[in-house]
Amino acid sequence: MQGSKQTNHYYSGKFEKQLQEYPGLQSKMTPVPDTGEKTYQGSDKLVHKKALITGGDSGIGRAATIAYAREGADVAISYHPDEEQDAQEVKAIVEKEGCTCVLLPGDLREEGFAKHMVKSAANALGGLDLLVLNAGVQQYEFDIQNLTSEQLRDTFEVNVFSVVYAIQEALNYLGEGGSIILTSSIQGVKPSAHLVDYAMTKSCEISLTKSLAAQLGKKGIRINAVAPGPIWTALQICGGQPQDSIPEFGHNQPLQRAGQPAELASVYVLLASDEASYITGQVYGITGGAPIN
Ligand code: NAD
Ligand code: MG
Repeated sequence: MQGSKQTNHYYSGKFEKQLQEYPGLQSKMTPVPDTGEKTYQGSDKLVHKKALITGGDSGIGRAATIAYAREGADVAISYHPDEEQDAQEVKAIVEKEGCTCVLLPGDLREEGFAKHMVKSAANALGGLDLLVLNAGVQQYEFDIQNLTSEQLRDTFEVNVFSVVYAIQEALNYLGEGGSIILTSSIQGVKPSAHLVDYAMTKSCEISLTKSLAAQLGKKGIRINAVAPGPIWTALQICGGQPQDSIPEFGHNQPLQRAGQPAELASVYVLLASDEASYITGQVYGITGGAPIN
């Protein structure tokens, strides 16, 4: 049956099974995720803004980074040192727009890197207006009795602790009009059986968004979360899902396919821009149709 134009605009076929070691390279995926390189057109929504995007090398963070640069922002991206190849691609794309792209490799499991990353970004960019805390780790495990303390710690360190440390440091730089955006997940409100630890961390991010919106409102700093559904990215093929779930990944959504990172970029731009001046403490679902509440 033919879908609507929108449903067909992005890849809607089955995916080949494919496994990479975490954190993986999107440039080695089939198909390569669409992060908007060929499609995103800016319209000066973020001119003169300085942004740090974690996990900006690939997937959703890369789509946000490309969009921010095309909207006129200077950007810094952080990523795991094993992702240098993807990060270099992003740097080349951003610099083609005439914007600065600061590269900040490091492991967010290490205490200290999150604060160091924010300080380095602000120093290199000459300030900070936008903080997109998007880096995340997801490893599936069907049985809680097999959940290792190492996995539990890694997931919380990257998805929760580093987010708190980065915000603590960023508040030394963000001023009135500053915007923080967290990439949470539909898992934060509708957890799956095989993603116990991951889903807990994504709930933490939603809670943090709401409590900090209340705390930071008086400073004129906004904070919002994006809650994606199934998006075709490296995270999913590096242990995020069992291989048997890869071929039909996303096909159970109302739009019957996985989303591509490029389809999220406009929301990251909106939440960063001054057009969102009265939007804070909100969770924005981009799920292909599954309700987030
Ligand atoms: P991705 O693999 O392309 O990006 C995740 C990034 O996190 C990596 O590129 C890496 O740079 C960073 N990262 C992970 N572990 C790190 C570590 N130890 N140190 C430093 N950086 C580290 O995948 P993505 O799907 O674009 O993920 C971005 C965010 O989206 C994550 O927070 C993820 O939880 C969230 N999310 C993804 C989906 C999906 O279906 N893909 C759905 C909901 C939420
Ligand atoms: Mg990556």
